[in-house]
Amino acid sequence: MRQTPQPTKLMEHIVIIGNGISGVTAARHIRKLSDKKITIISSETEHFFSRTALMYIYMGHMKYEHTKPYEDYFWKKNRLDLKQGFVKTVFPKQKELLFSDGTKMGFDKLIIAAGSKSNKFGWPGQDLEGVQGLYSKQDLDSLEKYAPNNKICKRAVIVGGGLIGIELAEMLSTRNIPVTFLVREASFWNGVLPEGESEMLNRHIKSHHIDLKLNTNLKEILSDENGKVRAVVIPETGEEIACDLVGLTAGVSPNIDFLKDSGIELGRGVKVNRFLETNIEDIYAIGDCAEQHEPIGLRRPIEAVWYTGRMMGETLAQTICGNKLEYKPGHWFNSAKFFDIEYQTYGWVFAKKKEYEDHFHWKHEDDLKCITLAYHKETNEFLGINTFGLRMRHEVFDGWLTEKRSADYVLQHLAQANFDPEFYRKFEKEILLAYNHQNVNV
Ligand SMILES: Cc1cc2nc3c(=O)[nH]c(=O)nc-3n(C[C@H](O)[C@H](O)[C@H](O)COP(=O)(O)OP(=O)(O)OC[C@H]3O[C@@H](n4cnc5c(N)ncnc54)[C@H](O)[C@@H]3O)c2cc1C
Repeated sequence: MRQTPQPTKLMEHIVIIGNGISGVTAARHIRKLSDKKITIISSETEHFFSRTALMYIYMGHMKYEHTKPYEDYFWKKNRLDLKQGFVKTVFPKQKELLFSDGTKMGFDKLIIAAGSKSNKFGWPGQDLEGVQGLYSKQDLDSLEKYAPNNKICKRAVIVGGGLIGIELAEMLSTRNIPVTFLVREASFWNGVLPEGESEMLNRHIKSHHIDLKLNTNLKEILSDENGKVRAVVIPETGEEIACDLVGLTAGVSPNIDFLKDSGIELGRGVKVNRFLETNIEDIYAIGDCAEQHEPIGLRRPIEAVWYTGRMMGETLAQTICGNKLEYKPGHWFNSAKFFDIEYQTYGWVFAKKKEYEDHFHWKHEDDLKCITLAYHKETNEFLGINTFGLRMRHEVFDGWLTEKRSADYVLQHLAQANFDPEFYRKFEKEILLAYNHQNVNV
């Protein structure tokens, strides 16, 4: 019997919106696992770069070229097609994207990895020239234009105290640009950090000659005759602060406006389940723009951090290549730098203690190092630790959290977790004494 020839199945086309850590990790892993056609789209830069290194470019430690984790030939060699363009609309039924230049692209599976955008809260003057966030390569170029030195930028005002605000303050101060830092809260980042740490950072920021104004909001941004910022107004005092640059760093939110009428379920971000699937078959979301329907453990439903974007990319690549995998980020950790002070956090240390939680806080007399250890009041179980000025080993704390060690155990073995045990030993006795003293007195 003669067989009718079957039409050859075309290679599945995976389209990824976003060439950040999430989208690129998904693409790399799909390529490792399969021969699918992969296209990565971005309206920002031609090639993937490390967003976390943006500050070092301005500070002169690196050139933009050095922030690209892969050589430019990598993409072609691995058959990862790059497309520069802005996706204006997604049509899920037609499995098609529309670009702002009117061209279209079809997909079999779509990964939305569109990242975040800087928050703007409708302040008058927020769209003036010289007013900007710090998120994209374009923001960096704009900073070079409006704040290249202290002749052109006589003062900068930063609005919003968080990790990006403090990075911007450090960047500007390396070019000797005077900075006023408006922070709405009574103490820097006190929604995340316990009081002792937050207060130590207030002092540290001021020690770098930053004009830190706590309990201070932004009323409006004033324009000069050319549509460029000339000053900001503070509502509390009516004070006008003359400036040439305003950095808006009051947080970020998912960059999803282009999906508004697509039928893809949105909350603050693109709603996904544990498999990073949206409400529409063959459409997924990962990284900063993804929002879990149900938060995982005590984690937030949206996590705008580098390593979770990478983990989501790796996980989704498995699912797309036929090995359906749940996203399980493990224990929370994070790290950052506040001028000279390195910060790490493992597990959960809440700024305002939960009813079951107690804290042990130790601070060195140099006011540059401290530890806050959170533990369960009744069981003494170790819940988490924040360290400032002491570099700790991730795998050690991860193990202790999984093993549900006691706070007593963790304090006694803290040297094991330190990168530099010799350095740590200088403080070990003092920390243990303080801990024992606290626990004798309760
Ligand atoms: C200054 C700064 C410092 C940071 N430092 C740290 C740190 O120290 N540690 C840490 O864990 N995290 C840090 N972060 C956060 C971290 O960088 C982000 O969590 C991470 O980069 C997000 O990756 P992503 O792939 O989800 O999105 P992104 O990196 O934002 O990539 C998304 C890309 O998609 C593009 N895109 C979006 N919509 C469209 C569209 N419609 N059409 C075409 N292209 C589109 C965007 O232009 C962008 O290029 C920092 C962030 C900033 C801004």
